[in-house]
Amino acid sequence: MGCALTAALPYLDHNASTPCAKEVLAAMEPFWRGHFANPSSRGHRAALEAGAAVEQARRELGRCLGCDPGWIHFTSGATEADNLAIKGVCEARMDRGRHLVTVVSEHRAVLDPCRYLAGLGFTLTELAVDASGRLDPLQLEATLRADTILVSVMAANNETGVLQDIPTIAAVCRRREVPFHCDAAQAFGHVPLACGEAGPDLIALSAHKLYGPKGMGALVVRDGLRLAPQLHGGGQEGGLRSGTVSTPLVVGFAKAAQLAHADRGERSARLGRLREQLWQGLLQGLPAWVDPLRNGRADQTLPHTLNVSFRGVDGARLHSTLRRRIAVSSGSSCSNGKPSHVLMAMGRSRGEAEASIRFGLGRQTRPVEIDRAVEAVTQTLASLRH
Ligand SMILES: *Cc1c(COP(=O)(O)O)cnc(C)c1O
Repeated sequence: MGCALTAALPYLDHNASTPCAKEVLAAMEPFWRGHFANPSSRGHRAALEAGAAVEQARRELGRCLGCDPGWIHFTSGATEADNLAIKGVCEARMDRGRHLVTVVSEHRAVLDPCRYLAGLGFTLTELAVDASGRLDPLQLEATLRADTILVSVMAANNETGVLQDIPTIAAVCRRREVPFHCDAAQAFGHVPLACGEAGPDLIALSAHKLYGPKGMGALVVRDGLRLAPQLHGGGQEGGLRSGTVSTPLVVGFAKAAQLAHADRGERSARLGRLREQLWQGLLQGLPAWVDPLRNGRADQTLPHTLNVSFRGVDGARLHSTLRRRIAVSSGSSCSNGKPSHVLMAMGRSRGEAEASIRFGLGRQTRPVEIDRAVEAVTQTLASLRH
């Protein structure tokens, strides 16, 4: 399993996905084997036990989030949770208005459902961000109208790690009585997340961004907020998300959240230091003709994420060479080769966006990998002078 070549490459792409923690694998194991019963069945003991495991996981996640477990609805990931939140709220509230607000630098799992709704006749405002990738909450407030039925702003950007001011945005939305959805796929388990009264009304989560299994996530829905289900069927998850709940994935998600909650402070402090070591190493080792630009401010980004544009460098050549030495991304893992819309929104040129690298550190990252990354990038850049 796994080829030797990829195993040897330092993996600095934790914003794209993280490895499953071994404790998560162990927690899931029994539910892939003996305990396979359908957690929604009621007729026998095996099913009741599976159902109890799902509810136990829901309580654990509620504890990590600081919210009522009843607000948590399991989905196949953050993409599905974002779609359910955006389409579900707009469908349920379209008698009150048809205006929705989001931000140009959002993940495609938010932008695309919003644009889909715009195609159906909703009005969409995509707010700009400043050069550091941040949204101005005052600008958001000025955009809200009597017919605004949803605001969607992510907690942490997947390409740059830039954090938005979620408590302030939540307060603005609450004051104006507009439901606020937040894609927290990159934030949960990594930085504190406002939940409950001071937080968003809807929160999308993904397990595989916090050392849990792929194909699992959740939508947190504040009590009393009505939304239209987007999958109809057996009525699982409070009628919001039909389909048999995957007991092993849910159990793995809760275990991952518990572990991430436990080591979050220590991990972010350690990875924050390693990230600065990486940045300093790059600054010192770069050839003089390369002009690096850090995308996002250190104090306003996820501690484990560094995004740099190497001005003066050909992005395609940079990545095709670097690919052989370290696992990093240019922009998002789902951008299909187009220059990053996130960096362009921050005012970067096409060339600057193309010649960017996202470094995503993780729980297993050690100083030796940072040294190897610095060496790989600086040597690659030195070889690119034409
Ligand atoms: C990864 C990610 C998603 C998609 O999550 P999946 O669980 O893979 O569907 C959505 N939004 C953000 C910000 C992400 O980082």
